[in-house]
Amino acid sequence: MSAESIVPIGRFAPSPTGPLHFGSLLAAVGSYCLARQGGGRWLLRIEDLDRPREVAGAADEIMRTLEALALFWDGEVVWQSRRSERYAEILARLDGMGLVFGCTCSRKEILASAPHAGEEGPIYPGTCRSGLAPGRRARAWRLRVPSSQVCLTDGVFGPQSQCLADEVGDFVLRRADGLFAYQLAVVVDDADAGVTQVVRGQDLLTSTPRQVYLQECLRFPHPRYIHLPLALAAEGKKISKRHGAVAVGRDSGEQLWQALRFLGQAVPVTLRGAPPAEVLDWGVRYFELARVPKDPRVPEPLKKSAPGG
Ligand code: GLU
Ligand code: ZN
Repeated sequence: MSAESIVPIGRFAPSPTGPLHFGSLLAAVGSYCLARQGGGRWLLRIEDLDRPREVAGAADEIMRTLEALALFWDGEVVWQSRRSERYAEILARLDGMGLVFGCTCSRKEILASAPHAGEEGPIYPGTCRSGLAPGRRARAWRLRVPSSQVCLTDGVFGPQSQCLADEVGDFVLRRADGLFAYQLAVVVDDADAGVTQVVRGQDLLTSTPRQVYLQECLRFPHPRYIHLPLALAAEGKKISKRHGAVAVGRDSGEQLWQALRFLGQAVPVTLRGAPPAEVLDWGVRYFELARVPKDPRVPEPLKKSAPGG
């Protein structure tokens, strides 16, 4: 059975570290249109796993913004902070398969012996892979990764392949502070919710092979992955929560219109500033994946709201 023959289940999974910004709006709009287009469901998951990074009230604010944009989700909101038992169960399952090992290394030790530092930090040098030195206690739990290539085809960026051993290293599933890692949580949550299509920002493309590998280990089905081009802040840097927060209000239809435009869609000028539900209706009907560009750009609304302007 191909992924296309079933009703899609999409999701939006914001981290409550600040208000919705234009970058996350793109993921919300893209995932919404592509799920609804196939008559599918669209789920909301609040990724509040990292309590220390959470901003009080941000989750509520994100939900109110989604509602103001007529981005209504199906069913109950899933909160990652309430799912630790499930993550622990899956970690134990992986451990039972001999795929997990305890690691005593501090960040400093890893940095000192890492072959080279990757974009997301140093590649784990494998220090604790074959057991801990006597007297040392595991701080974090890592997944053993293979030296074969993990392959997938992204709906926008095409064929991807990554050698986890060389490019990532044995990665953390449970951190030294006891928190479960995003990579583990996202795979468990998407599988438990029956998600068939993951639409999100390109910054997560390099995480996807880790997630695909975890799915293989756990015999979870692979969702279809669709990564969207990054919206850059006016200075050409990756957009942050500080720049480009989506203001809820009279211009919410305009924000949606801008998001569809940014994603390469031919949304008519006559719909500019129309009520959110109308703009979204157009998106659901006419969103074409083939039109989505790959290149990161500064979106129009951010050009205008550049510092000093
Ligand atoms: N929570 C992540 C973020 O806000 C998104 C994770 C995902 O879509 O897999 O960047
Ligand atoms: Zn270690």
